[in-house]
Order: sequence, then structure tokens, then C-alpha cells
Amino acid sequence: MMGLSHAAEKYPASGVRAMFDRAREYPDVVNLCLGEPGMPTPDDIIKVGVDGLLARKTKYTPNLGIPVLREALAEKMARENNIICDPDQEIMVTTGATEALMLSMLTLLQPGDEVIIPDPSWPNYVGHAMMSNAKPVMARLSESNGFKMTADIIEPLITDKTKLILLNSPANPTGAILLQEDLLEIAKMVQKHGVYVISDEPYEKLIYDKQAHISLASFPGMKNHVITINSFSKTYAMTGWRVGYACANPALMANMVKLHENITSCVNEAFQLACVYALKNGEAAVQNMKKDYEENRNLLVGALNQMYGIQCQTPPATFYAFPNIKALGLSSKDTANLILDKCHVVTAPGSAFGQAGEGYIRISFASDKESIKEAIRRMNQLFGHA
Ligand code: PLP
Repeated sequence: MMGLSHAAEKYPASGVRAMFDRAREYPDVVNLCLGEPGMPTPDDIIKVGVDGLLARKTKYTPNLGIPVLREALAEKMARENNIICDPDQEIMVTTGATEALMLSMLTLLQPGDEVIIPDPSWPNYVGHAMMSNAKPVMARLSESNGFKMTADIIEPLITDKTKLILLNSPANPTGAILLQEDLLEIAKMVQKHGVYVISDEPYEKLIYDKQAHISLASFPGMKNHVITINSFSKTYAMTGWRVGYACANPALMANMVKLHENITSCVNEAFQLACVYALKNGEAAVQNMKKDYEENRNLLVGALNQMYGIQCQTPPATFYAFPNIKALGLSSKDTANLILDKCHVVTAPGSAFGQAGEGYIRISFASDKESIKEAIRRMNQLFGHA
């Protein structure tokens, strides 16, 4: 048999999925492993999608997405992100943020180009860089500054091969957010070195404690350097609908859309219509979900900090806790497996998000409160009280 591609053979299997698959061994698991809201998509959004299908909105759409959605997105970007985008040239609707990320890297990267990626971070970033034949350069983040990817961590990693920096605020798996002053330093550094940034922002609305999300592309002079990526998945509990979007300058977008034509062509029209509805009417549902996540966060983090060998900073955003388990003396994989085998609670090992994730586990608190309480009850039996 002839060999396979380097990208396929070297592509790492997902450590999060491995836990998810092991969870099937137990019928009574509490699953706090996957990165998705536990609640269903709000009914009124589902209805618009279903009505769209019944109205026979079942054909191909323009590659960039239906105009009414691009216009709604341009309004949203102007209003909430302070980014002015031309809906005809600078916005594209994609199959989740995942496709937008892949297209951005395929558009920007040549073989051998370096991409600076946070460690720990969502593992697909490394995968996308590998599929683009580029070299991932990992920026090691640290708990001591709340896992923030700041300019002073990034700049020493920049070489003459650096093409792209991957930013993810709010961040999966740590919940870290970049503040105005952090982003200002990054903006100056990006302009000094003339590199691109992908700013992946799907958790933008899940920020607690009166902090606010700021988009890097809103800083003066940054629009041409940044591809802003976002998604309906986490915000509106729409992970399975697979709708995301990218905003980029017209020259980049004109090339990204050619690749999009070859990968998925377009997102189905009925679901795009549901997204228009979500943008215009979904805010109350988002705020309700956020309130639940915040209560879950406080409950979970408070309980984790009472457990022997576990310490957990309060994440300012997302629906992930990233407790430090180093005092247990076990690897993060062994800890996640122990919690699964003894408590039937599924978590993700920090090492699934990069080497710097070793010593931590990720626990999603996007489930319903009863599941969080039950997970705490079972983990208390294993780890006792500190
Ligand atoms: N970016 C981050 C940081 C994520 O955590 C995820 C999903 O977990 C995605 C992107 C992918 O989102 P989508 O469902 O829109 O493809």
C-alpha cells in the first residue's frame, strides 16, 4: 500500500474524544467533558430553522452566505465588536468556526511558515496548522498570570518565518480573557512585525464579573492584520447546526471564498435564516444561559477548592474550569481516568490541550445544575475535603 499524507499520519488523535469514548463504559456517567452547552437550542430559533426547511429553503446559497445574514452580522460586528465590515466583501458564513479557522490558515500559510499558538489551547489549532503544512510554535502560558497570552510571551517567539499568531479570548480551556491593555500591546507588536492574527472569539458573550469582550480588529490599523472568527455554536447552544463566520479584509476574503467553494461551498439556507433570527431575537436566551453558567461556575469552583489536592482559579469567562491537580501527584490523563473510573464523571485531561496543560484537567460547567451537583457529590467522596 502506498503511504498516506504526512498531515494525516502525524495528526494527533483528540484526547478529549478519547475520554468521551471511554465514558460509554459506564451507564450512569455525568459528562462534563465536551465543550458544548448542555441546554438545547432555544425553541424559537429551532422553529425558524424548521419553517425554513418546510418553505423549501433547501438549495445552495451564495458562497459568502445569504445577504440578509451577512447584513445582520455586519450590524452585529459594528454594534458589539466595534468592527466595520462590508457585508458584500468582508464577511463569510462558514460551517462552524472550525471551517473558518481552516480556511484562514489555508489562505495565509505557505509550507514552512510558523504559526504561534497558545499552549494550552483548543487542539484543533495545531491540527489546522499541520493540515496547512505550517509549523506550529507553541506559546507556553502560565497559571501565574491567569493563562493570558500577552505580547511579552508572544514576541520572543517571532522569527522571520512567523506569519500568523492565533489568539483566543475568551480562551478554551482556561477561560482567560485579554483586557484592553493586553490587546493594545499585542496590536503594537503585530504592526511592528507585520504579521497576521486569527482572533477566534466564539466565547465572546460568556464573560462574567462585569468584564467586557474586546476584539483585536477594533484597534486602529488592525483590521488589515486580523481575521476575526466567531460562531453561533456556544452563544446560542447551536453546536450541531454548524454555523460560524469570518470577517477579513476584501483581498483575503476573495481568496478564502475560493477555498470555501471547494470544501463546503455554503451553509444551508434554512439554518442561515435561523441565525438571522438568533442575532435579532436571541439575546434574552443568551443572558439566561449565561446566568446559569455563572451560578454553575461559582458552585463548581467553590467545591473544587474544598477538595484535597485540587486548586482552581475562578475563570473569568467561558464554561470551563481548569483546576490545578499537581498536588495529587498524578498525570492529568491518569487523574481524568481516575475521576471517570471512581466517580463516573467525565473530564478532559489538560494534556489534551498541549504540554502546558499537564497538571490540570478541564471541567465543563455548561451542564444543568443537577449534573454539576451530582459530579461534585461524587468527586467529594473521592477527594474528601482539603
Ligand atoms: N474555537 C474554540 C476555541 C472552540 O472551543 C471551538 C469548539 O469547541 C471552536 C472554535 C469550534 O466551534 P464551531 O462549533 O463553531 O466549529
